[in-house]
Amino acid sequence: MRTVVGRTDAVVVVGAGLGGLSAALHLAGAGRHVTVLEREAVPGGRCGLIRDHGYHFDTGPTVLTMPDLLAAPLNAVGQDLPDWLTLHRLDPAYRARFADGSTIDVRAGVDAMADEIAATCGSRDADGYRRLVTYLRRLYEIEMPHFIDRNLDSPLQLAGMPLARLVAMGAFRRLGPKLASFVRDERLRRLFSFQAMYAGLAPAQALAIYAVITYMDTVAGVYFPEGGMHAMPRALAGAAARAGVQIRYGTRVARIEVSGGRASAVLTAAGERIPADVVVVNADLPTAYAELLPPGYTPRRARRLRYSPSAVVLHAGSSASFPAAAHHVIEFGAAWDRTFAEIIDRGELMSDPSFLLTTPTLTDPSLAPPERHLYCALFPAPNLAPRRGRPIDWERERGRYRDRIVAMLEARGCPGFGDGIECEHLVTPADWRAAGLAAGAPFAASHRFGQTGPFRPATLDRRVENLVFTGSNTQPGVGVPMVLVSGRLAAQRVTGAGPARAPGRMGP
Ligand SMILES: Cc1cc2nc3c(=O)[nH]c(=O)nc-3n(C[C@H](O)[C@H](O)[C@H](O)COP(=O)(O)OP(=O)(O)OC[C@H]3O[C@@H](n4cnc5c(N)ncnc54)[C@H](O)[C@@H]3O)c2cc1C
Repeated sequence: MRTVVGRTDAVVVVGAGLGGLSAALHLAGAGRHVTVLEREAVPGGRCGLIRDHGYHFDTGPTVLTMPDLLAAPLNAVGQDLPDWLTLHRLDPAYRARFADGSTIDVRAGVDAMADEIAATCGSRDADGYRRLVTYLRRLYEIEMPHFIDRNLDSPLQLAGMPLARLVAMGAFRRLGPKLASFVRDERLRRLFSFQAMYAGLAPAQALAIYAVITYMDTVAGVYFPEGGMHAMPRALAGAAARAGVQIRYGTRVARIEVSGGRASAVLTAAGERIPADVVVVNADLPTAYAELLPPGYTPRRARRLRYSPSAVVLHAGSSASFPAAAHHVIEFGAAWDRTFAEIIDRGELMSDPSFLLTTPTLTDPSLAPPERHLYCALFPAPNLAPRRGRPIDWERERGRYRDRIVAMLEARGCPGFGDGIECEHLVTPADWRAAGLAAGAPFAASHRFGQTGPFRPATLDRRVENLVFTGSNTQPGVGVPMVLVSGRLAAQRVTGAGPARAPGRMGP
């Protein structure tokens, strides 16, 4: 593994997203002097917070998986997750509603889920599900240490037994047929393959290796922190401050100064120069290369990235409640392959939408005023760099699409949704781009094979020997668990330390 050359005592981290905070904690735990510069007034980046009329809207992730990965950066500074966060395991993790009116709950625990499948799809698929769980667990056990929780500089590092075992498991064949060898009901196949979308892939095109996300999502458990998802970065930032990390909010970095092949300092928008032995960048990687570094530094791999679909998100604070609600409801439209072709291949809005509706107040009512609910409707949408055609003009489309989202919610289990809204915030791909996310893609570069593992931009730049990256557009990839890992991988580039995780109590 390549590591930073030269002095590494003083580290400046650009951005207090989950990746930047994770890196800061691991580095502080290894004795580095760490300063985090964050342009916003709060930590969390995409895992942010909007406060409005007594409602606390989480702006980003709603699904927390693999909480031990959240414990790791805290353990690195000798602190424990339960001292900072109270996590609740959601049961059901999801309620899936299908176009034929049927529902299947993703239950917490393999036995409960097998019972649910037996009741909704029959005992044969329940048995198949148990075999699927064994398969997914093995995938996870191989992929996590060898391919995910590891800095990869070359594909040659992958050669060996773990790769051979994955090949033998059929993990490099298509996900769809692999799933079909375990469960027959079409609804289950959707339920265990839609997670490919989290990696920016159509389930029909994804390889079975990506079913590791299905493991995290449907087997290992989905959690929710008391106080909402934004409580996570607040906890990490609190622990970092206690460990001596200096976090400066409202401080936008305008440029990274490079001389003699080293990053020597960062320059803030206010004109301050902060010298650094190492610069760790948590700002979105392609944007950071384009806007913070001198011209000509963007590596070819970062220039050619293809991005995951984007999303339109409607946050609503409301007086309405709906009897069939669950914390997470996935509404599957009748269309399936066509939906992915529309948003990924053709750059069009979904004609028969599938979407995620989250009602966090069912778990933590304190996030809204009494007798009120928070709703977050996430509709996948094309990013702003479509393979075909022109990007959607969100200036023109946003009002129309907002009304479509409300109409769709009213037609699919939430009658009167529009009338109940007391305050709302709509976020479109244009807003993600304005926040500095390349291609308006909040889910980063897709995880197509050529952009995964050693083929994804590395956490250490090749030309600037002390410039390190963390976050969703570097290794290992997108999502809360992955960016927390990427913070550790970034710290490892600085310290050279191996992948050992400090012992500590794990929550929840
Ligand atoms: C709507 C939505 C839903 C999601 N749902 C899920 C989910 O359910 N589960 C899941 O696991 N993942 C989900 N994700 C993905 C997950 O949120 C992201 O992968 C992760 O939060 C990204 O973290 P990051 O550290 O890479 O980047 P960011 O969170 O973007 O952090 C980067 C930080 O850098 C700061 N910054 C940028 N430029 C500068 C500058 N010039 N100077 C100073 N600071 C700067 C930013 O303000 C920000 O704080 C979702 C994302 C979104 C947007």
